[in-house]
Amino acid sequence: MNPPIPRFDHRAQYLELRNEVLAVFDEVLRGGSLVLGPAVAAFEEEVIRFFNPSSRAIGVGSGTDALAIALRALNISTDDEVITVANTAVATVSAIRMVGATPVFCDIDRETLQMNPSEARKKITTRTRAIIPVHLYGNAVDMPEICRIADLFGLSVIEDCAQSFGTLLHGKPTGLSGNIACFSFYPTKNLGAFGDAGMCLTQNRDLADVMRQLRVYGCGPEGSAEREGVNSRLDELQAAILRIKLQKLPGYLERRRQLAELYREHLPEKCRLPRCTAGAEHSYHLFVVRVQNRERVIDRLRAEGIECGVHYPTPIHLMPAYRFLRCPVGSLPHTELASAQILSLPLYPELSDDSVMKVCRAVERAIAE
Ligand SMILES: *Cc1c(COP(=O)(O)O)cnc(C)c1O
Repeated sequence: MNPPIPRFDHRAQYLELRNEVLAVFDEVLRGGSLVLGPAVAAFEEEVIRFFNPSSRAIGVGSGTDALAIALRALNISTDDEVITVANTAVATVSAIRMVGATPVFCDIDRETLQMNPSEARKKITTRTRAIIPVHLYGNAVDMPEICRIADLFGLSVIEDCAQSFGTLLHGKPTGLSGNIACFSFYPTKNLGAFGDAGMCLTQNRDLADVMRQLRVYGCGPEGSAEREGVNSRLDELQAAILRIKLQKLPGYLERRRQLAELYREHLPEKCRLPRCTAGAEHSYHLFVVRVQNRERVIDRLRAEGIECGVHYPTPIHLMPAYRFLRCPVGSLPHTELASAQILSLPLYPELSDDSVMKVCRAVERAIAE
């Protein structure tokens, strides 16, 4: 039997980077600082250079924390509503709940599967304070339209860029349109640590100063709490690893796009692909296809050693933990339909062309059955 094709392979990446990773471990552990030290500061600077020299970056413990800290910095709390989508990582919604606010779901565009701005607009009430568009799969939300609506109603915009590090929209990286952008460096993401890490990015100096305090118990440099914060520090080992990988990111992104192109050329026609947003350059965090009889396709692929994912099988409004939001089956028709059809095929920079061809042939067989 062929060697298995996993959904993600951190070992292959480690083996490629092993010498560099071991060297920075040694450097960090021989140095004077383990948490929020020089590697974190250098990583923040390098991320800023990647985006826009006038941005500010705040390294935190995870993508979920980045979202919760962003919401808290904007003073969003109980009594406030935050509009987002239900076809995202649960994390987007748990962050909204961490500050006590109420998530309000809007439906997605049926072709791109991204937040539909006109659906978001319909959900605005007097209690709405913010919109969290999620750039899902490495594609992008129509940000000019989201920002236009937010301006019209005086709302804040927090971009969930956990899946879109390196995605471009109208030639600019995602993460520069809203008030704050939040990133996750969870190992599987486009830029992944070897553990948990996240980041907030903003163009606003005051918000940056607040978020810098929020990640360390709300304290200023003197150690006195200026506001109520949390503990969400980025550690030096993860930052040092992320610095190595940020240097390699252009190559990783190029490889992701090449593999996606190969999939597009060789997948059977019956495999529908979500449309790329107009003006977006997709970064292919995930390669998602839409199929009928998804469970059968998954089983067939698994029998050939190919592991797929589903992002996400249950929309958040239908999960037991969020029933209290009273958003019943049928309330988000495009979200619910897509959740039954989507399938994420393996895609990561270390995947070979040959593996992609094997996956395409296996999908073709599974669909033809
Ligand atoms: C991964 C992810 C998060 C959460 O990030 P963590 O680092 O796992 O906390 C949030 N939103 C989206 C869309 C994600 O994909």
